[in-house]
Amino acid sequence: MNATDRLTELFMRFPGIGPKQAKRFVYFLLREHSQYKEQLIKALEELKFTGKQCEKCYRFYGDKNAQTPKVFCSICENETRDHSELMIVEKELDLDAIEKTGSYNGLYFILGGLVPPLTEKPSELIRIRELTSRIHGAIESGMLSEVIFALPVTDYGDTTTEYIEKIIKQIVGIDKIKLSHLARGLSSGLEIEYVDRDTFKSALERRN
Ligand SMILES: [Zn+2]
Repeated sequence: MNATDRLTELFMRFPGIGPKQAKRFVYFLLREHSQYKEQLIKALEELKFTGKQCEKCYRFYGDKNAQTPKVFCSICENETRDHSELMIVEKELDLDAIEKTGSYNGLYFILGGLVPPLTEKPSELIRIRELTSRIHGAIESGMLSEVIFALPVTDYGDTTTEYIEKIIKQIVGIDKIKLSHLARGLSSGLEIEYVDRDTFKSALERRN
């Protein structure tokens, strides 16, 4: 296999990228100056060594210049954040979007997916074991008082919320923790990833 075909195959593993678009990327790179390609290679090299995943929230974070490698990301390690609130999001882009609004000061947990309705083995699709052990540990140490669901307002989001709530109630006990949900905005099908500051802020304030 030549470099062009190999690269096409690698691009096809990107989310949402089909063979045609993968090829388009390759042709773009072939046309680009070598300086751009050098930058890309360097950035990929760096990513290989700095892309660490936080063991608490599962967010990726850079650790390139740290003297001693950190186990947790800057959000989880931040003492000024409210450790009594844990917000559950589907993916990193959602966390980034919420951080950008500057309206939330608690901690996060990234599920890594959603549960489609009528799924037989939902536990294989999201980080449910990691989530329950995180919640369990945080309650034991008296840190956590509220779990906030910030999942998309879709069938998938609702199924996921119901499934997690059931598991939390079974494992942790309903009386030990408050479960709340972002208030539903005017438009259903809202993607957290694209939420604006005012919509998010109001949904957070009116959570129920
Ligand atoms: Zn973290």
